[in-house]
Amino acid sequence: MDYSRELEDIHKRTQDLSDEELPAPSYDNGELEEDIPVYHLDAPIEEQTLEITDGEQAGDGKKGVVKEPKRDDRKPDAEPKVPSLRAPDGGPSNSFGALALRRKWITEDQLEAALDQQKRTKKKLGNIFHEMGLLGAEQVAEILAEQLHIEFFDVKNYIYDASVADVLPERIIERYSVLPLKRQGNKLHIVTADPLDFQAIENIRLATGLTVVPLLGIEEDIKKVIFKYYGSQAAKNALDVLTTEDDDASLSELGEDLSLTANDAPIVNLVNTILESGIREHASDIHMEPTPVNMRIRQRIDGVLHQTMTVPKRVQPLVTSRLKIMGKLDIAEKRVPQDGKIKVFVDRHEVDIRLSSVPTVFGEKLVMRLLDKSRGIVPLDKLGLTDEERAGVEKMISAPNGIVLLTGPTGSGKTTTLYSMVNEINKPEVNITTIEDPVEYQLEGLNQVNVNKKAGLTFASALRSFLRQDPDIIMVGEIRDKETAEIAVQAALTGHLVFSTIHTNDAPSTISRLNHMGVEPFLVSASLTGIISQRLVRTICKSCAKDIKYDKNELKTIEQYLPPNTELNFKVGEGCAACHQSGYKGRTAIYEVLYAASDLREAVMAGKDTEQLREIARAGGMKLLVECGMLKAANGITTIEEVLRVARADEAVH
Ligand SMILES: [Zn+2]
Repeated sequence: MDYSRELEDIHKRTQDLSDEELPAPSYDNGELEEDIPVYHLDAPIEEQTLEITDGEQAGDGKKGVVKEPKRDDRKPDAEPKVPSLRAPDGGPSNSFGALALRRKWITEDQLEAALDQQKRTKKKLGNIFHEMGLLGAEQVAEILAEQLHIEFFDVKNYIYDASVADVLPERIIERYSVLPLKRQGNKLHIVTADPLDFQAIENIRLATGLTVVPLLGIEEDIKKVIFKYYGSQAAKNALDVLTTEDDDASLSELGEDLSLTANDAPIVNLVNTILESGIREHASDIHMEPTPVNMRIRQRIDGVLHQTMTVPKRVQPLVTSRLKIMGKLDIAEKRVPQDGKIKVFVDRHEVDIRLSSVPTVFGEKLVMRLLDKSRGIVPLDKLGLTDEERAGVEKMISAPNGIVLLTGPTGSGKTTTLYSMVNEINKPEVNITTIEDPVEYQLEGLNQVNVNKKAGLTFASALRSFLRQDPDIIMVGEIRDKETAEIAVQAALTGHLVFSTIHTNDAPSTISRLNHMGVEPFLVSASLTGIISQRLVRTICKSCAKDIKYDKNELKTIEQYLPPNTELNFKVGEGCAACHQSGYKGRTAIYEVLYAASDLREAVMAGKDTEQLREIARAGGMKLLVECGMLKAANGITTIEEVLRVARADEAVH
């Protein structure tokens, strides 16, 4: 189901009902960041329950991401107890700092600052550098491995082996974040992010009776694998407790004191697990759908829904209430749609959740849209543009003024591209102002404004006031009416570079859309700089990709979309554990990049139709979406089926 359309519906319905004094939607009313409740899902459960009863403390930073319990025997990295076996060229030491300096990854000043911080926080030096954004997790691991003379194991290559897994009890795996790797005689090889945690290693030795050989892995990767293969103990415990309770308790009995039971540890654990799982799998949405017999939990990953678990029917109202409490919704109100915002932290990722509830005949359906802020802005060169497309985009963003439009249906990734482009030209000497509905990513150096319909702040009215403040670059979330279109054109013609999105199918038809909105062809011709149309296609899972050959007839059809002499490396994913058997993992965009050169502007001015404009654009080098997609299939990035699936979805719209 298309979530934003759903959101809009909910929004509309809530608006319609607002005369009857119903809870107002809160996600687009420009509320302050401080108003959003914050939850650290990694923190001990008591603290999370506390935060609800004392909402004022949320987000005061004190609770932090409590990842590591204090252990007295922990040794700071700066003075490793492991003796240095080699002291190359008589260097000062093999301390973490020295090794990072030798690689020229940090400067003396940065080391000093980090050591300073270490004195205060007692954190590990590697973590401090990582948090300062100076070292990646892989770099920290590489240094640690050299420092401690132990082998590095890339957890991404971990293969689950039941016979080894059984050796180590799950509670130990979860408690110390270690993975059993292999058993050789009386030796057990484990992967850990903290080989200096001697207490953990000693306990594993006692529990298994085996000599422990630690290998170094990246903490975040280890946690993901534990979550995936060893299940979350928390979720299992929660469901166990919930299902062993007296089964005769009726829903109405349970419903009597929801505010209390919904905050009980098993429910909190279960809800946290559902959220964590979605975030770790990079889901864009989590759907919690009541059915007559249970509540179905599904995650949308790469645009497709996957069922992850079901929750017993009798627990449904508790889970629903817990989420509504987290999102500051009115838990007593079950008959009208509501929405709210939640901010959570998982594995150092800050994730914004937009929660909405809709009453259905089987109970409230909850949908959570996840926005992982720390995944941040995608740099322009990571967008999957070809060299020609990239050159076209460069011309658009370096233009002194004009309109640059991104088009495509909801969920086509156009906002990502929009942010990438704006971020590319985000410099101290230019003033960039945005009006968005809502602001999805906060970029440093930008003046970002949320649409606030109640206060009369619309795309059009905001745009009008921006012009009085003389910005250089303006980003308007979407052009959907004549008024906004006209002011955008006016801004472009008076020396501003305007970025926006518009809901059309392809680049050339955007021009007639503007005309239909009431913008005269000569104004479009004078102001238009470029149009980018895009779709998202799933990329083939690298773990199970294999070559595929097509026969002569098939190739004949395919090759008409490809430039002559294209090298053909078609692949498909066979399906494996890494990709939920789907054969796909991740997504990339396919584009239609139309740079408005002079011949195209003349044609627009002359009122040529979409078909003629398309031919002129193609003669100027524009590739169609399907051609771009086929090229990516020929390069083994996506499949022919996927390109056709996306193309067919377009046809269905018309
Ligand atoms: Zn796979």
